Amino acid sequence: MKRIAIVTAALPSLGLERDLRDLREAIAADLAYAIERDQLSVRYQPLMHLPSRSVMGFEALLRWRHPEFGWIPPDKFIPIAEETGQIIALGEWVLRQACSQLRIWQAKFPRRPLLSMNVNLSVRQLADPYLVSKIVGILDETGVPPEALALELTEGSLISEFDSARKVLGRIRALGVGLKLDDFGTGYSSLSYLGALPFDTLKIDRCFVHRLLEDRAADAIVEAVVQLAHKLRMKVVAEGVENEAQLRRLVDLGCDIAQGYLFSEPVTAEIAEHMLADESAAQELHALGSILKACSNSRREPGAEMRPHLLPAANSSPALLGEFSPITSR
Ligand code: C2E
Ligand code: MG
Ligand code: MG
Repeated sequence: MKRIAIVTAALPSLGLERDLRDLREAIAADLAYAIERDQLSVRYQPLMHLPSRSVMGFEALLRWRHPEFGWIPPDKFIPIAEETGQIIALGEWVLRQACSQLRIWQAKFPRRPLLSMNVNLSVRQLADPYLVSKIVGILDETGVPPEALALELTEGSLISEFDSARKVLGRIRALGVGLKLDDFGTGYSSLSYLGALPFDTLKIDRCFVHRLLEDRAADAIVEAVVQLAHKLRMKVVAEGVENEAQLRRLVDLGCDIAQGYLFSEPVTAEIAEHMLADESAAQELHALGSILKACSNSRREPGAEMRPHLLPAANSSPALLGEFSPITSR
């Protein structure tokens, strides 16, 4: 810890390049002990299935609380972990945590057998010869079905390793694990990826979602990406949805899934579990209401069919947004 304090204190007096190199080395040195010193945690951000308006799963996002610097954003330490190779151990740790958590939720909420977990995978992990066996081991150990797990890779990272990536991704897909192309549109997008790599879902980067309704080009790009993905039988997730106007436009454009602060920030497992419990209770109440309504209708109209719904029908409510309750606490 002293080393980082010394490096930071010395920043103004040293050459900038050397300062940054020293700081990176110091962060890498501390990161090496972050797992055993219990400084890492995982936050979960819900993915909203738009047709049913319910939580279909979560994205697991790594957090590091440094004893001196406090929370260090993943954007800052993940590139360092990728450079040093520490991402291999960190990635395995996140995968194990996220799968264990998913298994707990699947057991607690048996009416949600399709609840899924998305975990980010660095392209550096694809070079790990044990990656596929580690994934198989963690799925076995935790009892998570492969279909409930999806791995997210950013497109930019795949370019340099295209051939080897294709082989490993093919083996992962063959397990039944989903593959999502993250931050779509921000890297050097090549349409040939979409056909050549076994992705089942595109995640449209939040920069396009933020410019929807303000910028015709962004709107047209999102529309075209949704159509293209659907033609390729892929699902589309919109990232970074922050307001209701964006959500309405995304629904109009046929987007399947949405993720963003409008619904919830990434939250602790405890808060995420409350979210699932609240939503399940609301669905059960809705189902009970439907049963009671069907019963009273059948009394009025003898022979009428009773069809309880666990989920509200997609087009039953004029107020789409009334179904969502944003979670803002961390
Ligand atoms: P990502 O995979 O694209 O994750 C989404 C990022 O967008 C998250 O940032 C999330 O907090 C943020 N976000 C979600 N909704 C909104 C919104 O409505 N508005 C805005 N402005 N931001 C939103 P976070 O958690 O800081 O993670 C940043 C990146 O770090 C991730 O981007 C991912 O590339 C990487 N990362 C995080 N955890 C891991 C991990 O376990 N392994 C690897 N390899 N990378 C990770
Ligand atoms: Mg991601
Ligand atoms: Mg993303």
